[in-house]
Amino acid sequence: MTPMQEQFKKIKSENPGTVILFRLGDFYETFDEDAETVSRVLGITLTSRGKDENRQPLAGIPYHALPNYMPRLVEAGLKIAIAEQMEAAVPGKLVERSITKIITPGTIIDENSLDSSKNNYIASVVMSGQSSVISYGLVFCDLTTGELKSFTTNSEITLKNELKKINPSEIICPASQYEDILKIQGNRLQKLDDKLFDLKDSVIILEKQFKVSSLKGFGLNVNQKSTIKDSKPEDIAIVTSAGALICYLIDCQKGDIKHIRGIQSYSFNDYMKLDFETIRNLELLFTNSGHDSPTLYSIINRATNPMGKRKLRNWILNPLVNVVMIKERHDSVEFFFNKPQLISELRDKFYRIADIERIVGRIGVGGANPKDLVGLKNSLINIINISNQLSSEELPTRLSFLMRELQNEKIKEVIDFIDKSIDNEPSALINNGGILKSGYHAEVDELRNLRSNSKQILAEIQKREIERTKITSLKISFNNVFGYYIEITRTHLDKVPEDYIRKQTLANAERYITQELKELEVKILSAEEKLIKLEQELFIEIRNKLADYSQMLLAVGNAIAEVDVIVNFGFIAREFNYTKPSVVSSQKSENLKTDNSTLITDGRHPVVERLVEKFIPNSTEFSEDSLIHILTGPNMSGKSTYIRQVALITLMAQIGSYVPAKEMKFQIVDRIFTRVGASDNLSKGESTFMVEMTETANILNNATSQSLIILDEVGRGTSTYDGVAIAWSIVEYLQEHIKAKTLFATHYHELISLESQYKCIKNFNVKVVDDKEKEEILFTHKIEAGSANKSYGVHVAKLAGVPVEVTKRANEILNKFENSGIASSPSKTESRNDNKGGPKTPKKIHPEQMGLI
Ligand code: ATP
Repeated sequence: MTPMQEQFKKIKSENPGTVILFRLGDFYETFDEDAETVSRVLGITLTSRGKDENRQPLAGIPYHALPNYMPRLVEAGLKIAIAEQMEAAVPGKLVERSITKIITPGTIIDENSLDSSKNNYIASVVMSGQSSVISYGLVFCDLTTGELKSFTTNSEITLKNELKKINPSEIICPASQYEDILKIQGNRLQKLDDKLFDLKDSVIILEKQFKVSSLKGFGLNVNQKSTIKDSKPEDIAIVTSAGALICYLIDCQKGDIKHIRGIQSYSFNDYMKLDFETIRNLELLFTNSGHDSPTLYSIINRATNPMGKRKLRNWILNPLVNVVMIKERHDSVEFFFNKPQLISELRDKFYRIADIERIVGRIGVGGANPKDLVGLKNSLINIINISNQLSSEELPTRLSFLMRELQNEKIKEVIDFIDKSIDNEPSALINNGGILKSGYHAEVDELRNLRSNSKQILAEIQKREIERTKITSLKISFNNVFGYYIEITRTHLDKVPEDYIRKQTLANAERYITQELKELEVKILSAEEKLIKLEQELFIEIRNKLADYSQMLLAVGNAIAEVDVIVNFGFIAREFNYTKPSVVSSQKSENLKTDNSTLITDGRHPVVERLVEKFIPNSTEFSEDSLIHILTGPNMSGKSTYIRQVALITLMAQIGSYVPAKEMKFQIVDRIFTRVGASDNLSKGESTFMVEMTETANILNNATSQSLIILDEVGRGTSTYDGVAIAWSIVEYLQEHIKAKTLFATHYHELISLESQYKCIKNFNVKVVDDKEKEEILFTHKIEAGSANKSYGVHVAKLAGVPVEVTKRANEILNKFENSGIASSPSKTESRNDNKGGPKTPKKIHPEQMGLI
């Protein structure tokens, strides 16, 4: 092995599990299995050196192209370690190399690799406590914005749900718990040495990171002397999880992460617990039908700033349940709603505000460049303008609070500091000079003078030499090979003075140097080199000083993001004709019938209404005698749209938005549950029906009287008898034990007889106009009280282009079924011993009896 190969092997063995990008001159080289992986992922040529058993695969990328390649390497889930040259190369000597950064899917901070409208989280999960009661500590961090949050739960399902919601790019856990955690969340999980999760070390590292002498201020009752026995399992789980995560981040960055100065815990006291199925079923952030299909987020996101876009995504996933907070948001939206001119001015200003959170992130990990700082300064100037403009208005409570954040005196300090130090149009690189303002540092000014004087001196020498030689075309130029030189065209070579030393012959000119030029060159070049180095050092000093303002700047970014979302709500409310919902805390004052009442007048589906030419609004009223709605109606008539629309309108109201309805009066919903459509989870070995029942079980076990439940065709995944039986008993259970507001869309017409048995159950259907003459069926999409007696499935099959032969025959069969009583209109209830009704058991008739065979 050559010394360099040995050096590589050593670095590789010290960084297991990583792909080493080994700097070799102008390239990052990869070797052996790393080379094979990298060439496969990037589609670059795999070469080799050596022969036979010594053959070593190689794949390299030019160093300047790394930012282009990195996103693909990280997307492929690779952990990349950069082995940089730590000194200038000297022939015959092995260059010292060290790992300067480890880049992983959860720790990448490069702007080009990240979607600015999404957070990029890395999570850490630890289990603590006895096997009877296990506490799971989930800590997650967006390194690019400094957000660090914690969550504890004793429930595996809740942990799984939170992880799905956060959707981390990477998850770490202690090696000894890997198998258990893998069962809960298998994707992107990485085991790390248990030592990293040591309790005492974690306390020490967190106290150091947060610059505090105790973690009590973060609600964590654990100190350096704590033992597993005398501390709460939840606290242990959070502290060890957070300690390991911070350690891991520092190790990847190979340096400080100055912008993470605290940890924030959250629970479901203030937020609605949304399970992943509901997020998926309501198509809040993504759809099952592909990336480009519209979602609630894509429709209501008109935020103009990336911080606002991320905030809105976050709000959608965490609707509020606190009446005061919800009302405060609505009032803030109303303030802007009434001022369209202000909305347009502010949207324009937010557009010009940089992603402050991510700049602070880059400052924190030492990655911000001079242009970032100027971007930060200009954004802060804009923010001061915004807060001055808004402060002259009479603001509602929440906006006043946010304005106070934006009026922090320290903002001016940061602006002044950047303004006096960094050039208004600096270089984007830190090793190129051209960063600092003149007047900021005496030595920089002096070196710059020397540099510009030298231009003057060179011009004078050129003038003098032209006069001396009488060669008017004589020119002094510079290149990297000879430095400064004098160029003389061929026609004047006879006039070249003796003291010129020839260096290069070109086709029509000769190049010379002189003693004088050489001496000047040394002076100029050393000044230039010194200047670049000094500017770089001073820039890093400035950047480090700015890191001390991280917390203040993140709070400002957060406040601006919130104002952006509120302005966005005002904007879409005007654009899409939304109205202010009113949260009702007492039924009497608001003319609602009961504590559990909700009234939506002429509600619309926020996404579907943007896709169809004319959307038909529908009203919804929940009250004591209309709590569970059984909705029947033909296929394609709009049942799913309608029941989802009620859930979406409720969710929109609780994130603080105006709603697509003429009027809405509602009581806070603690959770929204949905069971919509049927989907297989084959990769987990669960059939359609199993998935359906698991989700239904979750609803029945966790819903309360304050929940909103949306059930779409539950029971569909099994045989008709089983399906009806299950659907029937679910509705009975809901009315008896849960009493939640429920919308149940179904093709089981048997269920409509439940209305006559239970006071709180009411039938609705989607009105259809059956034009017998024209043999046409018109879907009105209008919901009305009462029940439907047909599903018009065959009609829909016809519309879908199923061959006429099939639909004709289907109609014949249907007629026979109907005549024989199997697919009859609403069955009457039959009394049972327990006095409860039940669906009438359809007669079993052999197809032969119906003349089918
Ligand atoms: P199925 O029982 O087959 O699932 P469905 O009754 O649930 O059907 P939806 O999927 O809700 O029907 O609606 C079918 C289509 O009808 C929608 O994609 C939409 O284009 C249109 N639609 C639904 N509701 C309305 C409405 N209120 N106004 C206008 N168009 C609507």
